Amino acid sequence: MNTNYDYIIVGGGSAGSVLANRLSADAGNKVLVLEAGRPDYRLDFRIHMPAALTYPLQSRFYNWWYESDPEPFMNNRRIYQPRGKVLGGSSCINGMIYIRGNALDYEKWAREKGLEDWDYAHCLPYFKRFETRLFGANAYHGDSGPLKLTTPECANPLFDAFFKAVQQAGYPVTEDVNGFQQEGFSKFDQNIYKSRRHNAARAYIHPVKKQRPNLVIKTQALATKILFEGNKAVGVEFTTKGGTQKVYGKEIICCGGAINSPQLLQLSGVGNGDELQQLGIDVVADLKGVGENLQDHLELYVQYACKKPVSMYPALKWYRQPFIGLQWLFLRKGAAATNHFEAGGFIRGNDEVEYPNLQFHFLPIAIRYDGSAPREGHGFQLHVGPMNSDVRGHVKIKSSDPTHYPSILFNYLSTPNERKEWVEAIKKSREIVSQPAFDELRGKELAPGSQAQTDEQILDFVAREGESAYHPSCTCKMGYDDMAVVGADLKVHEVENLRVVDASVMPYITNGNIYAPVMMIGEKAADMILGNTPLAGDSAPFYKAKQETA
Ligand SMILES: Cc1cc2nc3c(=O)[nH]c(=O)nc-3n(C[C@H](O)[C@H](O)[C@H](O)COP(=O)(O)OP(=O)(O)OC[C@H]3O[C@@H](n4cnc5c(N)ncnc54)[C@H](O)[C@@H]3O)c2cc1C
Repeated sequence: MNTNYDYIIVGGGSAGSVLANRLSADAGNKVLVLEAGRPDYRLDFRIHMPAALTYPLQSRFYNWWYESDPEPFMNNRRIYQPRGKVLGGSSCINGMIYIRGNALDYEKWAREKGLEDWDYAHCLPYFKRFETRLFGANAYHGDSGPLKLTTPECANPLFDAFFKAVQQAGYPVTEDVNGFQQEGFSKFDQNIYKSRRHNAARAYIHPVKKQRPNLVIKTQALATKILFEGNKAVGVEFTTKGGTQKVYGKEIICCGGAINSPQLLQLSGVGNGDELQQLGIDVVADLKGVGENLQDHLELYVQYACKKPVSMYPALKWYRQPFIGLQWLFLRKGAAATNHFEAGGFIRGNDEVEYPNLQFHFLPIAIRYDGSAPREGHGFQLHVGPMNSDVRGHVKIKSSDPTHYPSILFNYLSTPNERKEWVEAIKKSREIVSQPAFDELRGKELAPGSQAQTDEQILDFVAREGESAYHPSCTCKMGYDDMAVVGADLKVHEVENLRVVDASVMPYITNGNIYAPVMMIGEKAADMILGNTPLAGDSAPFYKAKQETA
């Protein structure tokens, strides 16, 4: 194969797919994508049928299958952390919920980290650029981007009860959590197009790959090291079944995600110098922040039995599944055509916070992410959790062998603030479900259950049952403090020709599911790398619960 490129993209995942497309649009740019996983095989229903989302989580075929170290505040449990190992990355195995975060997340990035070009006004045009929202464009949404968004129907009667209940509890119904006002409850847009998952590779790579000989995609190619001359990145070493190879490029872009990008930097000598030396790795740049600042969302299920036989429970019966599968395959409709995370919302759990700190997903079935359901039959549930936690963890390599998994520690539940927010989250969930709108539907509380009443009992339940929402991020954070890894241009500090473009560059995790923010980061990065004039700031207004006083 050719060994010289303009751009080498390590990781053909969510952000990597964006860059593969945008950087190769000019036929003069030779672009190589190295992806450790397999192609996103077109005929494999497990990654294309929306309701099949639990399948890839139960095998390693498309999944790195990480686990955290024993979490000290979670009964020393190792917390499962799936990550997409496939062209399209985690967008091939995620829940397809499309949430941008709160406008004030980006205002915070700008204000607190000196990232003026990352305020909401300068992120919004990029969100709009990559979207085609099938419901229609407006001041907040695009209609001609590669990524298609479907707005779900919320046809199950339990959604009606849910929307009535949140209003009875005193919370707003907002038109669109990705529009003017995030605070409140609404339908959740989905990364689904014509009833198939619309992953990043389907949106960005497949439509162009045949027409672009300058775009080379190599799957099952694990990047093991970034090659440096002095402090200048010049290439990448990678392994395939055929052995180890080296490729060279003018710019190397790490898009391996929040676990693998810091791992690759550390393996290559960019990280905490003392720790790298102890592992026998030559230090290229002593950047102590690499792998630090790990953030995530912890979540759990508040589950109820349903007194009426209206939930999606029958769809789980084995004898109905062939019919549901065929209905999806030939008619593109039915229970398999949706992710079922069709509605939810964001509220403030207390009056001190500036904007929502709790997210809810409502499901018209009681079910765990792994597909298991309580034996009580019909049910419904809220997935809930704090969004702006002050808990911080790390990703650290344990050896210089690139095939050894790093140490991952989230420190979930380790701060008083996170514990306070967890109590708020459970109490607010119960408050919503206790409203009259649910009277004819609400059966027994299955989880946490009647025994979890005091704050201690609730926190004990969270420690036993809490799961990752699978949003690890922030491990190569943007900014200019001592622990920052990349600047506002996403270039790695203290070295040349090297950027990170993925979930790891967020300085703070955003308020909600993080796929949309990652895609926005990819779009903005593409303009920076190509030297394009950035899109002009967009002055669309956004909601603030607390207005500033002069
Ligand atoms: C199960 C699950 C459910 C989720 N649900 C949602 C949801 O509903 N909504 C939402 O907004 N977000 C969701 N997320 C989160 C979201 O999908 C991810 O945060 C986002 O896709 C991450 O994008 P990324 O570009 O940072 O990394 P990824 O998309 O993970 O891409 C990284 C890519 O790099 C490759 N790679 C890594 N290391 C190497 C290497 N050394 N050499 C070569 N290739 C390498 C990987 O194989 C992968 O393809 C979910 C995530 C998971 C796992």
